[in-house]
Amino acid sequence: MKQKPSFPAKVEGLAPQRPQLASGSSQFPIGNKKNSLDIFATQASGVGLDSTKVRESMVQKLAEQGVQDEMLLRAFSSIDRHRFIDSALANQAYEDTSLPIGFGQTISKPNVIARMIELLRQGKNLMITGKLARVLEIGTGCGYQAAILSQVSKEVYSIERIHGLFEKAKENLPPIRFPNIQLILGDGMLGFAQGAPYSAIISAAGGEKIPKPWLDQLAVGGRLVAPVMNENGSQVLVVIDKLENGYKESFLEPVHFVPLRSGVA
Ligand code: SAH
Repeated sequence: MKQKPSFPAKVEGLAPQRPQLASGSSQFPIGNKKNSLDIFATQASGVGLDSTKVRESMVQKLAEQGVQDEMLLRAFSSIDRHRFIDSALANQAYEDTSLPIGFGQTISKPNVIARMIELLRQGKNLMITGKLARVLEIGTGCGYQAAILSQVSKEVYSIERIHGLFEKAKENLPPIRFPNIQLILGDGMLGFAQGAPYSAIISAAGGEKIPKPWLDQLAVGGRLVAPVMNENGSQVLVVIDKLENGYKESFLEPVHFVPLRSGVA
């Protein structure tokens, strides 16, 4: 008999497995963490509790820039970006800009996140009721993109190598609000084999090559979207579809992502 997946959702067409957790492991967001979203809501000067208007204008801009996926646009409407960043930067939260999240890292621009997730969702249909089945995100950062992904996917596994950011994301993504996100502290260059195969893989950090474990852990019919170095040494987006008998690769526009680094810090 197959093992039950660790999520509420059943991933048809894939072979879900329960991630192997070390007993007593503190790597997963279990427990009664105080809901940090409430704290942010009251601290976020300049945006405050009523951020609906600025957020809607951000979503409208995304639509004007060509994002057509309605479920994705609804996700951007429903997630408060200001709650994922430092309260001193909250008044810039809905501008289309990347912002520092500490540890030398940045939260990606909304239109880049939208572009990448839209590309993922235009892949070859490993979807369940309009949602991506099982997604692996490399580079959780503050957790904003994971939150967006959680609205358009059945299950999200997100891996971060920097301990401080992993902790921040755990606070920003309380399991009670985001039950379909699994946070992992680890080296995303190795992927996360325990959750494989994935119908979609997305990276928020760019290396010279696409690590082999990502390709191995992608399901047949699945799609990967990531920044990578092209032959001229510039960073561009790459889309890779895993087919029955190989891979189809397309290199797209230039992008600027933080470097993909190995090991845990
Ligand atoms: N999606 C994030 C963006 C964070 S920036 C957000 O919404 O905030 C990219 C992140 O990738 C950084 O936090 C960086 O630490 C992380 N990263 C880089 N190399 C990594 C690796 N090998 N494994 C896991 N995370 C990595």
